[in-house]
Amino acid sequence: MRIPIIAGNWKMNKTVPEAVALVDEMGPALAAVQGVEKVVCPSFVALASLAPVVARYQIGLGAQDLFWEKSGAYTGEVSPLMLAGVCQYVIIGHSERRQYFGETDESVNKKLKAALAAGLRPIVCVGEVLAQYEAGETDQVVAAQVRAGFAGITPEQARGIVVAYEPVWAIGTGKAATRDIAQRVIGMIRGLLAELFGQDVAQVMRIQYGGSVNAANIVEYMSAPDIDGALVGGASLKSAEFIAIVQGTAKAKSL
Ligand code: PEP
Repeated sequence: MRIPIIAGNWKMNKTVPEAVALVDEMGPALAAVQGVEKVVCPSFVALASLAPVVARYQIGLGAQDLFWEKSGAYTGEVSPLMLAGVCQYVIIGHSERRQYFGETDESVNKKLKAALAAGLRPIVCVGEVLAQYEAGETDQVVAAQVRAGFAGITPEQARGIVVAYEPVWAIGTGKAATRDIAQRVIGMIRGLLAELFGQDVAQVMRIQYGGSVNAANIVEYMSAPDIDGALVGGASLKSAEFIAIVQGTAKAKSL
């Protein structure tokens, strides 16, 4: 059985004191929910301060990106070794990194290998943009991202990787994909992972949906058999919404 995972991507929001206050506000309610893994991904500068705070509430901690080199003259970058000392997870290939910062499938692949080598648990984001969705190219685009992003990864490594299917047209737009669209594409991704790593591995790998997830639509997504959680942007910044998303996941998956 796959344990659902709800991860909050805080993007470029929250100062360090605000980040600590948000975790302290939602921590007790999150700690009371069993059967769901919870993760928050604040900015780099908040990671070290949040590490002891999230631990109080059994919440995992993740970064939003990393660089693939261990150390050196890479001004502004953060290495896998630096992150491994403070957090467990790292988001790789988020569409905003692809759109604004030149992230490619090749850089995603390098970052994925570096994260695994450092013992971090990657959340690898894939998803098509609106024009590709409208042209009926979703499966082709997403499959290409998975094949290139996962090139050279062993089945043993793949087991611990979380995939986030995030249709770019649904991120931050309020236009969430329907449950059926999300389930269909995520089912396709699981089939591809089976082809790449074997059926046993594909069955244990967790695949999230992301894109305008909120307290009102979470139960519907989580009732889909292949959707193992969510990567949540905007709604993860609101304590009551994030708690309700985690509670809704526990409810839907225990039915
Ligand atoms: C995201 O940033 O990964 C995301 C899914 O954002 P939102 O939930 O705001 O659409």
